[in-house]
Amino acid sequence: MKTMTCKQLGGACDTKFSANTFEEIAELSKKHGAEMFQKKDSAHLEAMNEMRNLMQSPEGMQAWFENKRKEFASLPENL
Ligand SMILES: [Zn+2]
Repeated sequence: MKTMTCKQLGGACDTKFSANTFEEIAELSKKHGAEMFQKKDSAHLEAMNEMRNLMQSPEGMQAWFENKRKEFASLPENL
């Protein structure tokens, strides 16, 4: 298991997610983002807007995911 925070995954808070794969952790952060969106949390809404801008181009989205995947891969395993 590895741990990343909401912020590290393009979000806005220090909530921690733990998962074995990057796909799993991306899914957890997506779920959390959807919850925050429902609560209309302004910090997360702002972070989501920035993400949306980034996702305008397929290359931008690809680059972001590759970057985060590498970041996840380089993290130490949780003890
Ligand atoms: Zn968050």
